[in-house]
Amino acid sequence: MAFFVRDCVRCGVRRVQHHVVGSNRLDSHNHEVAASCADCDQISIYNWSGPDGSTLPIAFKGSIEYNSTCLDEDAVRIATTAMELSQYIPDRIADLFREANECRQMTWYEAAGAMYRKTLDVATKHIYTHDPRLAEREAAQALRVRIKSLGEMTILEHDIVELADVAALDGNDATHDVDPYTREEAEALEDLTLDLLERLFVRPAKIAAVKAKQIAAGVRPA
Ligand SMILES: [Zn+2]
Repeated sequence: MAFFVRDCVRCGVRRVQHHVVGSNRLDSHNHEVAASCADCDQISIYNWSGPDGSTLPIAFKGSIEYNSTCLDEDAVRIATTAMELSQYIPDRIADLFREANECRQMTWYEAAGAMYRKTLDVATKHIYTHDPRLAEREAAQALRVRIKSLGEMTILEHDIVELADVAALDGNDATHDVDPYTREEAEALEDLTLDLLERLFVRPAKIAAVKAKQIAAGVRPA
């Protein structure tokens, strides 16, 4: 049976055998190869090239990679994968982040940058509507002013304010700047935004859950 070994882009298993289930000739040298992962059975597509008159990949007995052939390192990308996020991140905010991440996977970096900025915008507004200490307060329209005032009222710690401000400023670049927003910038903003969501929503919820358990067990006063 014809096969090759690559990391599976469908299930994430590394260095797994893919069984060739079909191939299509694009021109005299180049073929698209469809192959199913030995672990998850899902199919990925790869570009493969071989010498003129070569056997079709599907007809190979054994590995389709040998001296005079070339199989691309990366699969042809035909879709994006939705990212798993913590249950503690509010749904609306998690959805925005996932959409930004999928834009980045699609190499739409400008859209990704603008979506990360929107994630940050909605996350800080969420704090205004859900923190009881801000019940009578009106959130500032401008994102960076809003972040700064959350710091001044000590709702957010200094290092989180700094992180948020860096992310907001960068998101502004993606949204307003005439220069192209690059892949590296989008990746860096994604890391910053995820770190921020972790600090804003996930860590406090985990601490609260452990405290509640300790109170229930009687090792912490209620
Ligand atoms: Zn797989």
